[in-house]
Amino acid sequence: MCKKFAMLTCLMCLTGLAFGQQINVIPKPSQVKIAQGSFNFAGMAAIYYDDNCSGFVNVAGYLQTTLRDQLGRTVKIDKLDASAIAGNAIVLKCSASQPTLGSEGYELTVTTGRVTILANERVGVFYGVQTLLQLRDDETGQAPCIEITDSPRFQWRGLMLDCSRTFQSVAYMKKTIDRMAMYKMNVLHLHLTDDQGWRVEIKKYPELTAKGARFPEKYEEPLRHQGYYTQAQIKDLVQYATMRNITVVPEIEMPGHSIAPLSCYPELSCSGGSFEIYPFFKGPGITADIFCAGNEATFVFFENVLDEVFELFPSKFIHIGGDEAPKSGWQACAKCQVRIKAEGLKDEHGLQSYFIKRVEKYANSKGKRIIGWDEILEGGLAPNAAVMSWRGIGGGIAAASTGHDVVMSPTSHCYFDYTYKAIDTRKAYSFEPVPDQLSDEQAKHVLGLQANFWSHIDREEHLVDRQLWPRLLAIAERGWSAKSVRNWDDFQGRVQHNLNRLEAFGIAYKPEVSKTVIGQWKSGQVTEEYAPKIYDITKFLNKAGTCNVHFQYTGGAHRLGIEKVEMLADGKVIATDAHRGVTGAFDQANEFLLEINELDEYKRYQIRAFVRSEGGIDSNGEVSLIKKR
Ligand SMILES: [Zn+2]
Repeated sequence: MCKKFAMLTCLMCLTGLAFGQQINVIPKPSQVKIAQGSFNFAGMAAIYYDDNCSGFVNVAGYLQTTLRDQLGRTVKIDKLDASAIAGNAIVLKCSASQPTLGSEGYELTVTTGRVTILANERVGVFYGVQTLLQLRDDETGQAPCIEITDSPRFQWRGLMLDCSRTFQSVAYMKKTIDRMAMYKMNVLHLHLTDDQGWRVEIKKYPELTAKGARFPEKYEEPLRHQGYYTQAQIKDLVQYATMRNITVVPEIEMPGHSIAPLSCYPELSCSGGSFEIYPFFKGPGITADIFCAGNEATFVFFENVLDEVFELFPSKFIHIGGDEAPKSGWQACAKCQVRIKAEGLKDEHGLQSYFIKRVEKYANSKGKRIIGWDEILEGGLAPNAAVMSWRGIGGGIAAASTGHDVVMSPTSHCYFDYTYKAIDTRKAYSFEPVPDQLSDEQAKHVLGLQANFWSHIDREEHLVDRQLWPRLLAIAERGWSAKSVRNWDDFQGRVQHNLNRLEAFGIAYKPEVSKTVIGQWKSGQVTEEYAPKIYDITKFLNKAGTCNVHFQYTGGAHRLGIEKVEMLADGKVIATDAHRGVTGAFDQANEFLLEINELDEYKRYQIRAFVRSEGGIDSNGEVSLIKKR
């Protein structure tokens, strides 16, 4: 059976692409024509760039660096002079006037001796390079002869990374930028401020980061989960992203989710404070205390902050949050009530609208546009504002039908802090950003789509990776490829092929999982104090290695807490993983890794887990051994 399979695989190697006529590029290009033969990178002499288009030299440099890692040698770079191309070469050619390609499109032609990438702008040639790098087979070092014409469906192919609830290191953000660029994503939205911390240095208000970026010591939060970015770091990050055609869109949240700035400047709240930032699960998800909209000082504060933010981020769009701002504080505040009366506003929703419109006016005066979560529709949308539709697609439809730009990122398909059980890759891939209700004209207002990652549940980089990948591939393809391309089976095949690539780039993606259930817990069977539960796994083990024990809540009113899991061999502890894990309405660190160095077939192996039911004893779930890929 195995032999037969090997022979078949080999046969397919020999006949190559002509046999299957399939390439594994993600996102799928618009037009592809595959020919016989291939281009061998090993025999390549040079990369030539056209000097008539600005920035092509930089893309040549990027390609040189990337190939150096892959080929183990530096290929020379030269300015394009058609008469002087010698040997096998990659040519980055400027077309400047191909209207169908737009700014991001490209034409890629691969023949046995030459690769030519034609584009109007730096961005297009960069994407041609990305496609070429995906076409190169790691094992053979060759790319098939091919003609590709390609351009994106949407201009906004985004990812929101929440850096407030959990600080994300600059190194991790750069890695994420590299990975997004490989798959032609082009917007990185950073959620920089929230109740859990203010993460961007503002020179005029040093307290914001001196105090507002650190959790109080009593919470014993690890240092890596807090902190802030200096302005120098932001500039460096933005430049890094720009080179990779990624626009960094900063989010400065207002008027809600603002405990971090209000802890520094409580006089800008309605009640006067005091306030203290807190880890997400140690306090309310939404706080009633928000910025006072009746106080002029609030607007002075935001204008000063935005002045520095505009300076740091060249992005045309600035995200101003606007979501989950309870109105009870404004109802009870004399200043806010005076404002409502003086401005002739209907109610507190009208006051939110006043707030956002006023900030928008300021942003517009500085040449910027604002985008906000769909709550900014309530009470009347600011005239030039764009909407990020997250509570479903209704907000997006409402905004697009009234001529406002929209980015679709509904919780149903695009929230990647949600589990794979709630949104698997297939579901993410099924998302269509343009609702049927919109006319062709209204549909033009759909700028694109975005995946959002909130960092309150999965807080370590490898866990963030797992939440993002491979789901982000689905968002990348839905953002780039034509609507007609959507084909799950075809996409899934390409994803499988890309898993090695994800691995090669160090992405701790969510693997396909095979699961062996070793036990259950049911309502009433687990106490509220930690106590051991034992599961025999002898019959499931067939070799030494890492044993991955997974606890999954399936129902009931209470969650399960796990403090330690041990591996026993004939009753003796041979491995321990002691950390706090939870499984319930949300899961946190609910996997435990136990190493078996040597498997003795005469011994009895058991898992001993110290668990408790939290808040009551109505909890159900199962314990499994999971094997990846
Ligand atoms: Zn107020």
